[in-house]
Amino acid sequence: MYIISSKIKLKKLLLILFSILLISGAVFFVMYRNKKISINAEENKKFIKYVEFNPNYKILKEAMSEDIKSHNSNQDVKIDWIRILAYLATKYGGKFDKYKNNDIKNYVEKVKNGENPEQSLENQKLFNYYLEAYGTILKDFLGEFEYKNKNGETVKTYGLKAHCPIAKGYPFHHYNDFGARRTFGYSRPHLGHDMFCSIGTPVVAVEDGYVEIMGWNRFGGWRIGIRTHDKKRYWYYAHLRKDKPFHPSLKEGAHVKAGDIIGYVGRTGYSDKENVNNIKRSHLHVGLQLIFDESQKDSPNEIWINLYNITKLLN
Ligand SMILES: [Zn+2]
Repeated sequence: MYIISSKIKLKKLLLILFSILLISGAVFFVMYRNKKISINAEENKKFIKYVEFNPNYKILKEAMSEDIKSHNSNQDVKIDWIRILAYLATKYGGKFDKYKNNDIKNYVEKVKNGENPEQSLENQKLFNYYLEAYGTILKDFLGEFEYKNKNGETVKTYGLKAHCPIAKGYPFHHYNDFGARRTFGYSRPHLGHDMFCSIGTPVVAVEDGYVEIMGWNRFGGWRIGIRTHDKKRYWYYAHLRKDKPFHPSLKEGAHVKAGDIIGYVGRTGYSDKENVNNIKRSHLHVGLQLIFDESQKDSPNEIWINLYNITKLLN
């Protein structure tokens, strides 16, 4: 009797154990499959992976003026300079070398007459791409802001909110050096813009944001990286002054406003040792990285924008 009942007990126990194994196996399988699916989804996420920004200074200035003019007048139809630029980029394949002088005037006239010039574009997908790519770069350049006039009164206006990275009134010179070869450490293209000026020239934040990195880097020397609040743009300022590179109020995580002094021009960098002047001519290296997805930050797929025409416009 005792033997039979313990046999039954053993059978029951085995059955329970087997069931537990089966259920946990099934649970693990489902978990593993879901993880695999989510990893695949991560890999296939759709986001912009390449951007070139080629509109020249003249085009940028004209498109911007039309936008500002329409916002500061009573006219009902507002012009969006990002749409103008995306329209022209789609029409000319992003190169702008076939741009004609009255292209922007014609676009604005059509919009004012209630027409939609964008509808005539053959490639709407390409237009949407440029709209997102250029929109990510220029999103917060124009808008409403307040300033104090000569009489000390606060005035509200619509216009250019972004600042030139070299403080107003300080001379500098520059040329289009984006993509030029650099050889310190390893051969690579120059993914920024150099603005030559004297040591100590104040460097200002182009846009609002927060300090993401601040300190020494063997290439950039004393450098500071500021991320915009929407996290999509990363402004990088490098080769700052030996001994006193940064504005004393700043630390990682601090918030900065467009136009705030963040540091001072120097010639530090190209050295493993900290606080060393190893750049021949003092200059600010300023870079703009676009981040459509966090996987693009600190990866071989970084997107950097040519700032030559942008800094000319901001000046
Ligand atoms: Zn540089």
